[in-house]
Amino acid sequence: MIRNLIGAEWRSPADGVSSLPIFNPATGQEIEQVPLSRQPDVDAAVNAAVRAFPGWSRTALMERVRLMFRFKALLEEHFEELASIITRHHGKTLEESRGEVRRGIEVVDFACGAPTLLQGRTLRDVSGGVDQDLYRYPVGVCAGIPPFNFPVMIPLWMFPLSVVAGNTFILKPSERTPLGAQRLAEIFLEAGFPDGVLNVVHGAREAVDALLRHPSVAALSFVGSAPVAKYVYQTAASSGKRVQALGGAKNHIVVMPDADPEIAVPAILNSAFGNAGERCLAGSVAVAVGRAADTLLDPLRDAASKLVVGPGDQPGVQVGPLIRADHRDKVAGYVDKGVAEGAELVVDGRGEMKRAGFFLGPTILDRVTAEMTVGHEEIFGPVLSFARAATLDDAIGQANQMALGNMATIFTQSGRAAREFRERVEAGMTGINVPIAQPFAFFPFSGWKGSFYGDLHVHGTDGIDFYTRKKVVVTRW
Ligand code: NAD
Repeated sequence: MIRNLIGAEWRSPADGVSSLPIFNPATGQEIEQVPLSRQPDVDAAVNAAVRAFPGWSRTALMERVRLMFRFKALLEEHFEELASIITRHHGKTLEESRGEVRRGIEVVDFACGAPTLLQGRTLRDVSGGVDQDLYRYPVGVCAGIPPFNFPVMIPLWMFPLSVVAGNTFILKPSERTPLGAQRLAEIFLEAGFPDGVLNVVHGAREAVDALLRHPSVAALSFVGSAPVAKYVYQTAASSGKRVQALGGAKNHIVVMPDADPEIAVPAILNSAFGNAGERCLAGSVAVAVGRAADTLLDPLRDAASKLVVGPGDQPGVQVGPLIRADHRDKVAGYVDKGVAEGAELVVDGRGEMKRAGFFLGPTILDRVTAEMTVGHEEIFGPVLSFARAATLDDAIGQANQMALGNMATIFTQSGRAAREFRERVEAGMTGINVPIAQPFAFFPFSGWKGSFYGDLHVHGTDGIDFYTRKKVVVTRW
């Protein structure tokens, strides 16, 4: 069974905790056990973070940054190892895992810019003989609760920026994919960070609840499904914490009649079926405007049927397994529901369910409408809904009907259509001729509507603002 990191010590949780298996989703075999930590384990981690805070928050910035550079160098050294850990217990292809590790390391690169990012502002002679200076201070003990689908990247969205700003941190990794965070914490210690700056508590709801209500936790970063994001936001905010809670998605890809199918078709496949659809930036509904449907559907059907499904560590595989058997069955249930509600099954990936492991192949449903369950609920699997719109206006209307507003993207050769889309679509991450509109580490990850609860998003200067509080000093001599 894997252990928690409390201060300097890898420790088993208090007696009597239960555990869950961690699987290799490509084989269905158990590879480890993860403990379901409880209140006393969370208390121990918070106490370690509280003890470490005075020393760490007063450690010179350049020392904190030197350690962050060392962490970055070690992450590069362990790049392939981290990618294979992701594939082994998440299932995505090795290529996708490498992309994930790279995007995660980019947040560490960004954190290394702390001497610039943490600067305040000054204004002299505001009134006669009076100067005003703004300084940034850490907020205290912070906690991070990531989802299962990016076991390395999403923890790296959280703790590097927090600790470089002088905070101490408690990470509660996903109980389904905790091994990436586990390895990150080992590497973090190897980089030389002092004990208690980063602590790891494994578990699920009970551990989360203990963090949400803990009086010594000042700020909390959450990424996961929409209902849990809302719950986390409400619960943690009601005990006075800062919260950033990123939720689920139902992303639309609009394809205009002037779009080049040679660009749009591979982009839709990548967006819908990459990471087996288990991405908050996955394109879930392709909306063909006007005659775009005629040029898209056949090539999409042909190409989706040819995607190679299999274990993510095998060369040539393009679509790996889903995270668990019950999640795969839930996704298959959406396909059944789509057909029952009137959608046309164009590609059926359910044949792959016969294999060992938790597989479901790429699936396409045509003539989906927003009223159908598959037209508005997040599926989080390799199921593409194909919808039709008469005009761009109609397509934007379909996207904006969603309760969630994480990402939307358009394929077109018209600057005017692209601009119209950019102005009117209600999605915090908007793409123009790109399959996945993922902001780099120096911009905020910026979902809207039910995809986000809070004010300051993760990473970018929002991340710095989230993990610091400002003090203004007014001086007269
Ligand atoms: P999830 O909500 O089930 O779990 C997320 C985290 O919350 C986990 O650490 C889990 O232990 C904890 N948790 C789960 N249920 C809880 C409960 N009832 N009370 C308290 N804590 C609870 O999400 P998941 O299935 O791990 O991840 C997939 C979801 O995350 C999808 O909806 C996806 O869109 C979303 N996601 C969003 C973003 C984003 O940036 N907006 C990024 C990645 C994933």
